Amino acid sequence: MAHPTILDKGMSMKRTPFLETPIEYLKGVGPKRAELLRSELAIDRFGDLLHLYPFRYVDRSRFYTISEVHGDMPYVQIRGQITGIELHGRQRTTRMTAKLTDHTGTMELVWFRGFQWLRKQFKPGVEYIVFGKPSLFGKQYNIAHPEVEPVTPGAINQRSGMQPVYNSTEKLKSKGLDSRGIGKLVKTLLPQARPHITESLPGDILRPLSLMPLDECLVQVHFPDDDNSLKKARARLKFEELFYIQLNLLRHKMMRREAAAGQVFGSIGEHFNAFYHQVLSFELTGAQKRVLKEIRADTLSGKQMNRLLQGDVGSGKTVVAVMSMLMAIDNGYQASLMAPTEILAFQHYESVQKMLGGLGLRVALLTGSTKGAERREILAELKSGGIDVLIGTHALIEDVVVFRELGMVVIDEQHRFGVAQRARLWSKGRVAPHVLVMTATPIPRTLAMTLYGDLDVSVIDELPPGRKPIKTIHQYDRNRLKVFGFMREQIKQGRQIYVVYPLIQESEKLDLKDLTDGYESIARDFPAPDYAVSIVHGKMKPGVKDYEMQRFVQGQTHIMVATTVIEVGIDVPNASVMLIESAERFGLSQLHQLRGRVGRGADQSYCILMTRDELTSDARKRLEVMVSTNDGFRIAETDLQLRGPGDIQGTQQSGILDLKIADLTQDEPILKYARSQASALLEGDPSLKKPEHAVVRKQLNTLFRDKLFWSRIS
Ligand code: ADP
Ligand code: MG
Repeated sequence: MAHPTILDKGMSMKRTPFLETPIEYLKGVGPKRAELLRSELAIDRFGDLLHLYPFRYVDRSRFYTISEVHGDMPYVQIRGQITGIELHGRQRTTRMTAKLTDHTGTMELVWFRGFQWLRKQFKPGVEYIVFGKPSLFGKQYNIAHPEVEPVTPGAINQRSGMQPVYNSTEKLKSKGLDSRGIGKLVKTLLPQARPHITESLPGDILRPLSLMPLDECLVQVHFPDDDNSLKKARARLKFEELFYIQLNLLRHKMMRREAAAGQVFGSIGEHFNAFYHQVLSFELTGAQKRVLKEIRADTLSGKQMNRLLQGDVGSGKTVVAVMSMLMAIDNGYQASLMAPTEILAFQHYESVQKMLGGLGLRVALLTGSTKGAERREILAELKSGGIDVLIGTHALIEDVVVFRELGMVVIDEQHRFGVAQRARLWSKGRVAPHVLVMTATPIPRTLAMTLYGDLDVSVIDELPPGRKPIKTIHQYDRNRLKVFGFMREQIKQGRQIYVVYPLIQESEKLDLKDLTDGYESIARDFPAPDYAVSIVHGKMKPGVKDYEMQRFVQGQTHIMVATTVIEVGIDVPNASVMLIESAERFGLSQLHQLRGRVGRGADQSYCILMTRDELTSDARKRLEVMVSTNDGFRIAETDLQLRGPGDIQGTQQSGILDLKIADLTQDEPILKYARSQASALLEGDPSLKKPEHAVVRKQLNTLFRDKLFWSRIS
């Protein structure tokens, strides 16, 4: 059967003909439902339905009494009599209630539709099985829209064991494909499909790990015999999912290593040494030295470096970047540093200029606002090799920018750039330059392994000595006066202060109003001429914004009122207080990034999280984590747990996080194991040529045929 569109998309695996049968031909589906299954759940073939895993199970073997019911229960099953049916609502019926009674008590059942039909169902004196999710209504529990059926010997037997719960959508539900409807389809399909399910993991992985065979897994994952079989089935499916992702990443890495020649920086020479001995006023931390060694080894290897450098804000990544660029320069190459914003590019330019200008190196800045003669001159000098280090924004990747010989590219805050943009920079050198991607957004290990599994990763996990940890305090709005008093004290001591307001796209207008109101109130409480206040937000003209930022950077204003524009923005060591308004509305990683704007100087710094009184439990958790730790990695882990991987900054664009069954917040051990198994398999059979690995090749081809890896470089 040829179904080119689907196969081309790589959605559907190449399976035996039976599993490739269009879903419409399954008993109970038909063309209409088939179309919905396709558009809503991407289920196109029989085989796709088998891999639609339940996201939860309910135990229908157990009955509860009404007195046992409490709020945290997901679903309960109760036996009892149904009486006292009442219709509510003035003009028309809006609600129907009934009483469910067993020997321990009474609770309410409630419906919001289907009244006429329902009313006729319940007979006095009959015992029913009621199944649903209890929720607190006033002071009592009720169950809305329970499943109800009379107790018959068959009913109880049938109901034994765990039942799958599938994700469904409104559209599907309207065509009878709620979780139960989908379950029925799976139940119809499984027995017919089972003989056609072929194993998708190789024997040398399955056997030593005693993994459950795929056909058994698919039966157990939908209709588990018991807890233990379900665990085994899920473990195997999770392992398999992560195994193939890791295998694919590792294979890419291996192929790139083989293919991508890199410039060899054979000697470390005058500029590197001069910088190290004359310019650097401090001893490098152990972590910085370790990372430099890793980079040194990469640039000697003859292969192109693709390294991700992770380090918390203030951990000293810039020095590492500068020294890496010096390695290139000492070997006759140029280097380039790309930043996500003009302001950040300018700051990098100033600090790199300060560090390297004295060594007789030519450092230039190229951004969107570099115009006219200056721009032409820079471009000419780049081509002739007169410029050693070019710093800039994405203006660097325009086609007109041509280097004489680019040897090292450093990208700061990488997730602001897209894949295509980066790819253009690589093609600038004749041999691809070495690439160092720096990020200050700590990424939990599990995510890093999945997102950047094909990059080499270096971590600076140590702060320069003598830093005073930032003190973080949670304050309620009602204590504002106290906070203002504290701010005045800090200003008296010569410090500067950030006040940040949240900016959420959907309500930009409101946010802007929050910000301007806030600015006015700050300006009232910190009046001229004793105090000077800057204001910066995204809606300002770039020129005005830069001017306001510069006033603060140069110490001409005491307070900067801003939106999250400053998040990746600026470096003002004299700023010692970060006040975050409506902190409950920020995500954890954003709070951490903002906090990183202070604590850059010698003085004790503070981060004050202002919130209203009532907080959701998630918000409370976020604030507690912020107050209790400065460790970006711990914060990232918590963030991942609270929000799930899909929401973590910068990961949205990467399709690889659409995991079907594995869960990066919980499955780290499985992930590590899958990675080590994938690595071992590749080691023993690098080109996957062994006959027993034919199945592996096939799986890789169908799963990843055209997934563009977000982190792929070269
Ligand atoms: P990051 O880019 O990782 O946020 P930076 O490179 O901007 O951090 O460094 C933050 C500050 O710490 C800078 O002022 C830098 O000069 C200083 N610094 C970096 N490394 C060290 C070190 N080993 N010892 C002391 N200070 C350091
Ligand atoms: Mg930095």
